[in-house]
Formats: sequence, C-alpha cells, structure tokens
Amino acid sequence: MKSNLKDFALNRKVCFPMGDQAEESVACILSWKPDYLYGYASLLLEAAALVDKQSLRFMPPKCVICTAETIMPAQKEYLTAVFKAPVVEEYGATEFDIVAFECGTGHRHFVNPWLVVRESYGSLLVSDVSRKSTSFINYDIGDSGMIKDSECTVIGGTHYLAALEGRTIHRFAYIDPETRFHSVDLGYAMNEYQCMENEVFSFRIIQSEFGAIDLYISSVPSNGPVSLQQFIQNSIREKTGRDIVVNVFVGEKSVELAEKSYFVQRIRETASGVVLT
Ligand SMILES: [Zn+2]
Repeated sequence: MKSNLKDFALNRKVCFPMGDQAEESVACILSWKPDYLYGYASLLLEAAALVDKQSLRFMPPKCVICTAETIMPAQKEYLTAVFKAPVVEEYGATEFDIVAFECGTGHRHFVNPWLVVRESYGSLLVSDVSRKSTSFINYDIGDSGMIKDSECTVIGGTHYLAALEGRTIHRFAYIDPETRFHSVDLGYAMNEYQCMENEVFSFRIIQSEFGAIDLYISSVPSNGPVSLQQFIQNSIREKTGRDIVVNVFVGEKSVELAEKSYFVQRIRETASGVVLT
C-alpha cells in the first residue's frame, strides 16, 4: 500500500517484465508515460531489450532508477540509449530502505540523515539514530564498500559510496580450494565482451563447484554462446594463469534470484577454509 501510494505520487512505474505477457506489460508501463522507471537492473535490461526489439515508441521518462543489483557500465549505457533518459543507481537495504542515491556526476550520496554509514575493514556498517533499538547500531548489511568525501552537494550529504561489491562472503570465485580470484574480474570480463560486441544482456554467475562457473544470460549472443564462453575463459586465464570452465545457459534463471550481486557463490566459506555445500 505504502509503495503503491509512493508510485502514484511520484508517477513512477515499477518494472517487472516476466513470462508470456512481458511485451504487453512493458508497452503498458510505457503508455502510462511514467516520469520514473524503477526496478532491478536485470529486469530493466529485459524491458530495454523488448523495447529495442519491438521498436516501441514512448515518451522518455525523466529518469531510470536501478535498484538492488550491481550494474555494469555497458549495461547502464544501453539503458540510457534505449530509454533516452539518465540512469541512476539507488542503493538500499531491506532493513533501512534507501541508503544512497546517485547524482548526475556518479556519486552514490548518502541521502538519509538518520542513517550513519561507516566502513570497517571494507564492510558497510549502518546505524539508524532514529530508532531506539540497539540492534540497528553498527548493523552489518553484508555488503562491502568504500566511503569517500566529495565536494558535491547536489543531493544528500557530501559523503558517498565509492565502491560497492555485494555480499562480502560471496566475493570470490574458486579454481580450487586454495586458488581464488575476485568475482569482479568476471564482471569486468562480461563488461568488456559486451562493449566489444556492442550488445548488452543481463547475466548472473553462479558457482556451485570448484573450477567451474555457470553463466546465465538473458539472450543468445550474436556470435553464439561459445564465443562468450571462450572470451570469459581466456580473460580469467590471462588474469590468474589458471583455467576455469564456464558453462553458458541462455534464458534460464538469469532474473530469478533477487540477489544484489551478479555473482552468487554457493561454495560456503568457513573460518578454516572452504567447504562444499
Ligand atoms: Zn554528487
């Protein structure tokens, strides 16, 4: 109810193109001439792909707001081009609602004066000074990031979230129990591929066993899944000197998971090392 009211007041439409009616639902959303399009990055990308494919005509919104998931620069550019509107990132947490919001220059400013965000060994800790409960003091929201100060006063305070890397415990991909690399390398490789091929799709990477990752993509790359597979495998080999197998799946699971990160680690890390779940 609160969220419906907010949507109405702001003339924003929440994007959720799914299943057989995806095309109609996107056309319907756009026919409302919303000022803001709001949604998970992967769902906005699905919507953009439909708009692109169908050459749907619409009035550009004032702004497209991506929430909850990491979005790569190439994907952001694609959303800007298709929706003909600036694309900004919102950073929120279930426990605290909106924490940070991106300005035109690209700073994710902290926008809620009641939330004190600090960084401790790369983890983001949030204190809600408006709540009496002590459970909201230095609450670890499970994401890692870097806080920096800007001179920019466009929105919120001058402090902003400079880097954001999803769930701390899920940041590494494993070649074997002793060899791991940062999952951001996979993100960069995906971004590079999309820039190089001049095409954009949403993706999700899941690791459930050592030495292999499952890459779920929203549509078939124009050069075929094998070209993408080899590109990612080569890119990881160049960075780590080791091999990892990339299994590519098209059109499955790519948008099912409501995770913040494009990378999901299913091999559980423990204090003493790693174990398979
Ligand atoms: Zn700014």
